[in-house]
Amino acid sequence: MTAPFAKLSFWGVRGSTPTVDPSTWRYGGNTPCLELIAPDGTQFILDCGTGLRMLGNRGSSPSMGRSPETHIFVTHYHWDHIQGIPFFAPLYAENNEFHFYSFRSKFLGRDSLKQVFEAQMAVPYFPVDMSAMSAKRKFKEVDGGETFRIGENEITAGWLNHPQGCLGFRIETPAGSVVYATDNEPGDAKLDRSLRELAAGADIFINDAQYTPEQLAGTRRGWGHSSWLDGTRIAREVDAKTLVLFHHDPDSTDRTVDTILKHAREEFDSVFAASEGMVITLGSPGERVEAHMPGSRTALRREAHFRAHVCGITEGGHTFEEDTVVKDLSLQGALIVLKNSPRLQSELQVTMETPGVNGVQQMQLRGYVVRIDDQTGKGQAAVGVVFTE
Ligand SMILES: [Zn+2]
Ligand SMILES: [Zn+2]
Repeated sequence: MTAPFAKLSFWGVRGSTPTVDPSTWRYGGNTPCLELIAPDGTQFILDCGTGLRMLGNRGSSPSMGRSPETHIFVTHYHWDHIQGIPFFAPLYAENNEFHFYSFRSKFLGRDSLKQVFEAQMAVPYFPVDMSAMSAKRKFKEVDGGETFRIGENEITAGWLNHPQGCLGFRIETPAGSVVYATDNEPGDAKLDRSLRELAAGADIFINDAQYTPEQLAGTRRGWGHSSWLDGTRIAREVDAKTLVLFHHDPDSTDRTVDTILKHAREEFDSVFAASEGMVITLGSPGERVEAHMPGSRTALRREAHFRAHVCGITEGGHTFEEDTVVKDLSLQGALIVLKNSPRLQSELQVTMETPGVNGVQQMQLRGYVVRIDDQTGKGQAAVGVVFTE
């Protein structure tokens, strides 16, 4: 008997180049890498961005590269999708075995991905050469439109519209389907159709959302990416259940991604913005898809009990001040119960009384409202705030 569910983990969600600036910490700065554990235990890895390093370092991965099997799909050869390979520790262990899948690039020819491996570790760009990589590696070339089986799962590849080519992948597991379609620009009729075929009825549709519609209409046209609006349109057209906005622009701060997510949620019911550490479980029948963040830094949430004074702006545009108690506090933000209902995205000033060495001290924090849950009947709202300073 196999487990009835599949687990999808996000190890890297940033596009183009890794980011380390604090304004991008919440969604994360590692470049694309996803992991899907299918109900039959097969481990799929989608793309080898810098997120792959963390995946390889994870302590609890006894079956990595061994039984049942690890299959790694590389969508294309741009840096952000391959730069984690030399830092993936399981590749340096002799007993491991990996199956790699990617397409034959017209710029590289036969064994494209194998060549990429060698080029990445060539002198003078890397301190050790390929011989240090002792795990067994098998390479398979796939073409757009191709379908094949791995264990109980059916995989389909489809071409996307991206400079020098890119493949999207659909993985159909007994617990549900995941479609991974990053690095795609809409506007090519044939490839637009290819993407829709790939994404039809998907349970989880992960789509490139690097730009805003305004950016895409301007200078960024032709760079090979989509906007969140393309994602919601396609999700609706193909009847996808849940959309995940992915490949965030390196210049998009957490606040920008919050805004993008907010707009997308006005257009489509079930949308998440991919964030590093996010896990989605598929296959609980009748249940809504839930994303959670186990063990990640955003889950460093502590029960607290701080008296706080909050200033903000209400839905109606009036300023308010209110005393409350903060009970749920994390590194990035807090959940605060208020009688006033502040406006979404408005600024909130929170002055908390915290115990210090010399008695009670005041801590001044400034943030903005990211979530409001009306606790109807109680005359109050649970307000999610993210601290910016
Ligand atoms: Zn990319
Ligand atoms: Zn690319």
